[in-house]
Amino acid sequence: MSAILIDGKAFAENLISRVSVAVNELDNIHNFKPGLAVVLVGENPASEVYVKNKVRQTEKSGMVSIEHRLSEKTTEKELLSLVKTLNEDDKIDGILVQLPLPKHINENSIINSISPSKDVDGFSIPNVGLLSTSGEGLIPCTPLGCLLLLQDHLGDLTGKNAVIIGRSNIVGKPMAQLLIKANCTVTIAHSKTKDLENECKKADILVAAVGRPHFVKKEWVKNGAVVIDVGINRLPPEGDKKGKLVGDVDFENVSEIASAITPVPGGVGPMTIACLLRNTVTASCKRRKINEPKM
Ligand code: NDP
Repeated sequence: MSAILIDGKAFAENLISRVSVAVNELDNIHNFKPGLAVVLVGENPASEVYVKNKVRQTEKSGMVSIEHRLSEKTTEKELLSLVKTLNEDDKIDGILVQLPLPKHINENSIINSISPSKDVDGFSIPNVGLLSTSGEGLIPCTPLGCLLLLQDHLGDLTGKNAVIIGRSNIVGKPMAQLLIKANCTVTIAHSKTKDLENECKKADILVAAVGRPHFVKKEWVKNGAVVIDVGINRLPPEGDKKGKLVGDVDFENVSEIASAITPVPGGVGPMTIACLLRNTVTASCKRRKINEPKM
């Protein structure tokens, strides 16, 4: 079998156009443009690229984009003070503090200082709690993007066996909550899982969020499974050339057995930014208690 390619890039572009229409509608009817503030501390090269893309796409969608670039030496107190100012700024609907933060700053205290109604990453404790109860909070962007791709490809996910490799707070755990809510039977695997290959073989839906290049092998995948590759790994440079970006799945071989698969790049990655923009519109409407335009 040769797997269908799940084109996250095309889906994300489409979603961003729908977000732009929604932004325009909010401006025309309610006279405001949703605003997203992105905060970058230090000079992590990967974070610089992520932030640049987020700012560019926010502007492109017609939203207000505010960027705060702070030095590596910024103290936790200074960052908390900036978040407080953004929490109180009525023009700001979403606040994203790019992770990782420098070691001397406690990430949890920063994440939880963001007002839950503006926490467009969905990482704060109130939003995590809402996701595992009512599902009414802001949902972390990467797993939300994976869910949208799965639903677009498979329709109703009821009764599917889903296996997620990875239990991080930003991908694995919220992914599990979303798939439980979508009526899947969910297994979360991690580095202490005893027979990973056998667990993976049971999956109708296999989500890999490990951070290890080509980790998931063809032999682990059930015939016809749908495989979502969240991993972004850079291989070592080849001569003068920058190392290739690859996922957590042995794409070439797994494609022979899966029924559908996301590529890296061009799969889950672009969905993360699209969902961030969607979350900002959602947050702006919830906070103002107005109906959210269809996106
Ligand atoms: P983390 O490092 O936080 O989590 C990795 C998970 O993988 C952990 O739960 C770990 O288990 C598990 N794991 C590690 N080794 C093994 C193993 N040998 N067998 C089974 N499980 C293992 O990573 P993230 O969740 O933050 O990210 C995962 C990947 O997704 C990375 O490549 C990252 O770059 C990418 N990513 C992509 C995004 C996108 O926009 N597309 C956004 C966010 C992340 P344990 O808990 O036991 O240590």
